[in-house]
Amino acid sequence: MKVSVGRLPFRFFVRLVFFQTGALFAAYGLSVGLAGEWFVNHPGILFLVLMGFFSVVSVLMLLRIDQSDDWVSLEQGIQQAESEVAQKAQALTREHEELEALMGAISEAIVAVGASGEPLFFNSRFAVLFGGKDFESRRPRIGEIFRAPDVLDAFNGALREGTPKTAEVRLALGTGAERFYSLSVAPLFRALESTSANREEVSGAIGVFYDITELKRAERIRIEFVANVSHELRTPLTAIKGFSDTVAQDFAAARTEDVGFCLSAIQRNVDRLMSLVQDLLDLSALESGVAIEKQWVDTAEITTRVVSPLQALAKSKNQEIKTEFLAKQVFADPGRLEQVLTNLIQNAIKYVQVGGEIKVQWEHLEKSVRLSVLDNGPGIPHESQARLFERFYRVDKARSREQGGTGLGLAIVKHILQRHGGSARVESAPGKGTQFTCEFPSR
Ligand code: ADP
Repeated sequence: MKVSVGRLPFRFFVRLVFFQTGALFAAYGLSVGLAGEWFVNHPGILFLVLMGFFSVVSVLMLLRIDQSDDWVSLEQGIQQAESEVAQKAQALTREHEELEALMGAISEAIVAVGASGEPLFFNSRFAVLFGGKDFESRRPRIGEIFRAPDVLDAFNGALREGTPKTAEVRLALGTGAERFYSLSVAPLFRALESTSANREEVSGAIGVFYDITELKRAERIRIEFVANVSHELRTPLTAIKGFSDTVAQDFAAARTEDVGFCLSAIQRNVDRLMSLVQDLLDLSALESGVAIEKQWVDTAEITTRVVSPLQALAKSKNQEIKTEFLAKQVFADPGRLEQVLTNLIQNAIKYVQVGGEIKVQWEHLEKSVRLSVLDNGPGIPHESQARLFERFYRVDKARSREQGGTGLGLAIVKHILQRHGGSARVESAPGKGTQFTCEFPSR
């Protein structure tokens, strides 16, 4: 360690004064003690020799003391640096843990790969979805994980060209299930050390897999819905067009015999169109969140209001409608409740054979009020029951149309119950009748 006078601290000079005073007394004492007689004759020379010796020794000692001070401060410096490094390491570990927790909480699967496709990091979602067995220990390259060309093209393209890539892919998961993903791959860059200019090279790529299965499903339902609506509208419209053309030709030819038949066919189809449009409007209002105004409704009163106008139709098929009111009141929107009752009782009248029986029953459960519409009709095949509440689903398309059905009645029932916080279900067996059950929350 070098010590120059210019850098010596003030305390060095203070100590020097003390040491020199000590050296002075020591030189004097030793001179007297050692030299004795000779000192009496040559006092100056001996004193100066000893004084010089002590001075050199004291300065050397002082320098050593100061050097050891430097060692102390160096040691302190190292300790401080060590504690700073430890603090930084702790902060880094914490950051890493936070990042891992964040990545783990993200529902999208994320993977970052190096320049040759080796995984650098990935979140737990990625490992669960695409990792497979021993993923953590094996760490296979992206080309081994995915076979889908679109996925590989996106990663390879981003690595090769250094530009972001996107793809929409259908991937089979380990469970065998298929899901749709929108994949975004962005390149990762690293500064080139050899060049002074700000040049970068692609060091890897990060890919994010967004699950768009539900979106695709909604899109498919929407496309199917539009196709179904168009089909449902086209059938009565075609009939109206045909019958009105016939009426027009008959009118031109002054023929009248078929006019009555054609006009009643036109009326029937217009009615069908109107009920279809009405059902569509109801469904769309329910789906778009139109307000449900719940109040206490008298079950006997509302059931009678619905059943009375339908009695004539039931009688024409020699059917009997029975009612039972074990629950006196229900907390519901009266208008919507009327719609539920109408759809279920009308369906029963439509699909139950001549002479059949229909029963409307209200009862209390622990946390709900239950409405059941039961019949002893033909029943519904088991495989159709799960789809019965879907829009436009019919067990027997021709029969439903012939009966003037729109295929939307049960979908409306399901939506009304959902909006009430309740549920609707069906239990049926072919040849043994059907029971529709609607549960309204008690309050
Ligand atoms: P639709 O206008 O065709 O009646 P819904 O949505 O009301 O449409 O009913 C869907 C289908 O459920 C009907 O087409 C019919 O096949 C079946 N269905 C409904 N109620 C009954 C019932 N009580 N008995 C037998 N089948 C029924």
